[in-house]
Amino acid sequence: MIVVPEIPSSPRLRTIGVLTSGGDAPGMNAAIRAVVRWADAHHVRTFGIQRGYTGILDRRVELLTSRSVANLIQRAGTYLKTSRCDEFLDPEQRRRAAQILRQWDIEGLVVVGGDGSLTGAKLLAEESGIAVIGVPGTIDNDMGGTEVTIGFDTAVNTALDAIDKIRDTADSHDRCFVVEVMGRRSGQLATTVGLAGGAETILVPEKATDFEAVVDSIDTSITRGKTNSIIVVAEGYGGGTGHDLTEQLNARGYHARACILGHIQRGGMPTAYDRNLGSIMGAAAAAHLTAGETGRMVSLQSGRIGLVDLDEAINGKRMDAVNMLELARTLAT
Ligand code: ADP
Repeated sequence: MIVVPEIPSSPRLRTIGVLTSGGDAPGMNAAIRAVVRWADAHHVRTFGIQRGYTGILDRRVELLTSRSVANLIQRAGTYLKTSRCDEFLDPEQRRRAAQILRQWDIEGLVVVGGDGSLTGAKLLAEESGIAVIGVPGTIDNDMGGTEVTIGFDTAVNTALDAIDKIRDTADSHDRCFVVEVMGRRSGQLATTVGLAGGAETILVPEKATDFEAVVDSIDTSITRGKTNSIIVVAEGYGGGTGHDLTEQLNARGYHARACILGHIQRGGMPTAYDRNLGSIMGAAAAAHLTAGETGRMVSLQSGRIGLVDLDEAINGKRMDAVNMLELARTLAT
């Protein structure tokens, strides 16, 4: 249950912009809708900026009304589209972006995205004085200062659905399956999905991979009468790809198969949780931005919505994976 905070409702800014940047995440649309509708209800104009920072530099800006964001809350992806914009790494281009925003009378920006996007937002605010509030939108759940990011819950459920299906075939064929989920630098998705899916082994970037321990865990499962096992690996677990691990296992005589879940993890209708998180965070971002806050990100801590400094957000989340991995192993044997 997310506690909806008392949201300030005395806007000082009259015109704001909203954009989504970096990797898309289900629930971003709920956040866009909430920004626009909260602003509309408080007589603030909102410009939607297409394709992240690229859209500022290319002047792809449109005035949004409450009707522009109708029929959006249940849709995955992002209505405003997103991009990776290398030009924004250049301070000169950020200065140009600020000038363009001012030409549209945009005094503040809501940026929905991951740590890269919010790093760009922080620099824009510091260098130009354009106010920015970040909204954490990434399926990786790897941002500091917030327990959860928009899109994580949907991605967990999508990956879990796939793992349940893989378990059916693993069981029928008495096989070991290596399932690779997203997470180059974070094992949040892998551990959450692994525990929920009953994975025998979970490999994450936060803990060095010991191949012999993986082999031991399969052997222990077999000794205990299990005929199949699922190994969930995060992309960045450190031992190559899920295919590489599968080959290593087969070289040792196991009949392993690999399944790389890939981009299906980004799509799909957002869960109720992500729609609510997007809605509440989007509204809070618009409210705090127009009330005069800047350089901060909306966060969720102990069930409460608040604000943290962008520095804390972009420093990332340090997951203590040990207990979670230990519990998953105990419950899967
Ligand atoms: P995410 O926001 O999902 O972490 P990226 O890391 O790809 O995704 O970042 C998205 C965009 O944010 C980049 O294409 C760039 O426009 C901007 N960005 C990322 N890092 C920086 C940076 N250090 N300085 C300025 N802009 C950045």
